[in-house]
Amino acid sequence: MRFVRKSLTAVLVEKNLINNEQLREARQRQQGAKLPIQDVIVEMGFVSEKDMLEVLSNVFQMPIVDLKGENIDANVVNLISYDIAKRYGVFPLRNEPENVVLAMSNPQDIIALDDLKLLVNKSIQPFLASKSDIAICIEKYYHVDDSLYDLLKNIAEDSSVEVAASGSAKGIVQSEMLQAECSPVVRLVKVILSDAIRNRATDIHVEPQENFVEVRYRIDGYLKNILKIPTEMYSQFVARIKIMSNLDIAENKKPQDGRAEIMFKNRKIDLRVSIIPTYYGEKVVLRVLDPQKSKIELSKIGFSPVEVGMMQTLFTRPQGMILVTGPTGSGKTSTLYAALGFVKNETKNIVTIEDPIEYLMDGVNQIQVNPKRDVTFATSLRSVLRQDPDVILVGEIRDSETAEIAFKASLTGHLVFSTLHTNDAVASISRLYDIGLEAYLIASSVVLIIAQRLVRVICPDCKSEYVPEAQERAKFEQSIKKLNIEKFYKGKGCKECGFSGYFGRTAIFEIFQLSKKVQDLISQKASAAVLTQEARNTGMKSLAESGMEKVALGISTLEEVARVAVVDMPIDAPEQKTKREKPLILITDDEDNIRKLVAMRLKTAGFDTIEAINGVEALEMAVRNHPDLIVMDVMMPLMDGFEATKQIRSKLETASIPIVMLTAKGDANSEVQGLDAGADDYIAKPFDGARLLARIKLLLKKKG
Ligand SMILES: [Zn+2]
Repeated sequence: MRFVRKSLTAVLVEKNLINNEQLREARQRQQGAKLPIQDVIVEMGFVSEKDMLEVLSNVFQMPIVDLKGENIDANVVNLISYDIAKRYGVFPLRNEPENVVLAMSNPQDIIALDDLKLLVNKSIQPFLASKSDIAICIEKYYHVDDSLYDLLKNIAEDSSVEVAASGSAKGIVQSEMLQAECSPVVRLVKVILSDAIRNRATDIHVEPQENFVEVRYRIDGYLKNILKIPTEMYSQFVARIKIMSNLDIAENKKPQDGRAEIMFKNRKIDLRVSIIPTYYGEKVVLRVLDPQKSKIELSKIGFSPVEVGMMQTLFTRPQGMILVTGPTGSGKTSTLYAALGFVKNETKNIVTIEDPIEYLMDGVNQIQVNPKRDVTFATSLRSVLRQDPDVILVGEIRDSETAEIAFKASLTGHLVFSTLHTNDAVASISRLYDIGLEAYLIASSVVLIIAQRLVRVICPDCKSEYVPEAQERAKFEQSIKKLNIEKFYKGKGCKECGFSGYFGRTAIFEIFQLSKKVQDLISQKASAAVLTQEARNTGMKSLAESGMEKVALGISTLEEVARVAVVDMPIDAPEQKTKREKPLILITDDEDNIRKLVAMRLKTAGFDTIEAINGVEALEMAVRNHPDLIVMDVMMPLMDGFEATKQIRSKLETASIPIVMLTAKGDANSEVQGLDAGADDYIAKPFDGARLLARIKLLLKKKG
């Protein structure tokens, strides 16, 4: 049986809820808004949500449900995932034997009904409810913040990170864990991990502040702000991290340490997890440990071939003390592992005592220090010595007891490696006096001290020659002459290096080989100045000189050597974004007059603007300036608006910046393509300034 029903708009006009003029306006607005006409009419305030609902119910013969009055079972969220509910604008109400009852706001959405039927494998019994009530229910019952949803929607889906199975965490039952697998928080954690690893982050800091939670990555030694996550969901975020790393999710007053294992592109990656309660909540630091690094060779960390040869000779000695020094984060562990990798063979018993064990090495016995169980450096070292070791690595020498045992061991047939926290190689000697070692013991056991730092390596993709200013050269004139450096390089900044101009790091060294004469001087307790002079007489290079060799080879920059070896500047870059007074809008268009026009309009309306003339520039400015919104033209040379939008969306750092695309009039194809690429809205050219402004304000408001 078939009956002709009146169209919705005809009924609205007939009932005098809307006049023809308003209908025309609504239709105009509907173009480009991608909304059903009833939503546009309600949004424009012509018809109330309640009246519209009644008309819809009449026209489409669908009963209305009052969600506010419904007694909703919290388990209904298991029927349909959050994404699906959000995408189709539906909220599940009941799971009945024959069908699933749900609320929807658009009764004409046949596709949604068909899709949902397939998904739940049952028939669907739909009820009408207002769009806003459905949205409220979704947020309430799925516990998710809208901005988070938008972020996850925008960022290219990346399922390449998988959490390796770890035993069930304390205080959580298995079913809850399974249910959590598909929750937005779980996805957020995954997205952050894969984004961080892809961007070469060595640490991920998650820091609760007063109004939001800041996520930062450390890349090449520098911390960089990446995104803010809403405070409301932070407890779930921390709980997820705790589950992954087998920590107690009920404990939030004490520091906790743990480990988690994840798979990224078929590569196993370890995470060292540290959680500390701070004023606004628990701060989480995840250290990313790539097991590949335990296989690093001496020649790959930055030593010259001559230096590698010299060290390899020393490492084949049957006994002696070898020290690596430098502040935290200077790459000492890599050097020690490379050294162990070299000395390691089947004929040797190698034991390490570490706190913590960073990388696991095949063929090496590694001991984790645990003072709670009386496994300290000193006690372990005593035990280890009873097991006939050839090579011992003592993670750090902090106290006289450990120092005493380690140094004596290095005189009695053991090759011992260890680290100290000192600024330069010679300073290690006085540090050892301070710890309480006798001069003769130091003089007779130490064979080599390496002080090291890490300098950033110029990005190979944007490396270019430049002429340094006199002031920049001044500190290094001697080395420049001595090494005959004529060409200087630095990175201009490109997509590959996150516009920093650097990609990766390498070490620079001060290598202090203890000659017979130096040993005599130490026995006589000679001053550091005298020891330094003697070391330099026999060819020891300073850190700055070692750094300048890297400059001569075009590996690093004057700026880096100055920062690391001359002034010892703190490593955190002063690039923190301060709160802006006016929103900053990035306008991207290759046509000068359009850019200027938009900029003028926006400035008058109280915005700050910056301009880019193509997609490549837009991408760079998005990363460097973090604008609050981007206006993006489609057709541009070098990189078009679609590609730029896609790339901006693929990085967490820029993924949540709203983008308004400027399309050619009537080009429906590019509208779809724009939205697919991740644009939030589009507006056809030639555009009406007031309309563009309204769209921009709406998007900024939505972003908050
Ligand atoms: Zn680059």
